[in-house]
Amino acid sequence: MKRIFLMILISSLVCVFPVGSLICGQTVSGSTCQVRVLFSPQDNCAREIVSQIDKAKNYVYAAVYYFTSRPIAYALIKARDRGVDVKVCLDKEQPTYEYSKSRFLQNQGINIRLIGDSGIMHNKFCVIDDHITITGSYNWTVRADLENDENLLVIESQEIAKTYKEQFNKFWSGTHVDTCVYKDKDRLVKRAVKVGSALSCDEYFDKDKPDEHPDKGKYVGHKNSKKFHYPECRWAKKMNKENQVWFNSQKEAIDKGYVPCKVCNP
Ligand SMILES: [Zn+2]
Repeated sequence: MKRIFLMILISSLVCVFPVGSLICGQTVSGSTCQVRVLFSPQDNCAREIVSQIDKAKNYVYAAVYYFTSRPIAYALIKARDRGVDVKVCLDKEQPTYEYSKSRFLQNQGINIRLIGDSGIMHNKFCVIDDHITITGSYNWTVRADLENDENLLVIESQEIAKTYKEQFNKFWSGTHVDTCVYKDKDRLVKRAVKVGSALSCDEYFDKDKPDEHPDKGKYVGHKNSKKFHYPECRWAKKMNKENQVWFNSQKEAIDKGYVPCKVCNP
């Protein structure tokens, strides 16, 4: 496995994070830091992430868009079982994705919050014990590990970890910036107009359940997954209102490119 070690001075590294409503980014400065650079699929990114989680003593805070990796899920559970504070923020759509580990983690008692109002929670970062930050394009998925072209940085720096931890805490408390608008004609300067929200899985599943549906149709499809269900299906009950597409017949659903759910067999 090819590993590149870089020693960089972080005084010139600019992180583009919103600060309050000022959206000006932060320049993180401090001592030197060490960065390990990995590329997927050739480097063992999942193994690197697991080995970092295995070393955690106090906390692992992760905000990842897509999470299907079994070894990483087990590493988080192992960490929690030895007393490490494990918190995971996922995009709000994760519970409806077929191979997502969101439900598995939830069932294992891992603290999860679902993030997302407008847009998607597209981050892939993890902070460990105030000194390790893992980030890059690499989602915590089997596909990213075996097939995709991705990059992963493992940064050892207290200053960078602090910056990412602050952003994680904003997601966790639902106080992150959700939406901005341009405030100049060149579209280079923005201001925040809306703060986001964070829901536990239970809170999320309880809202907008398609219980009352006779006026809407016999079957309900998910706009993104293109699967359709009986409204009583447990997967249908997890859909957000905005993602529901209703049909009066199977033919109508199939003609519109939807496929029947394998659980409820509509
Ligand atoms: Zn179904």
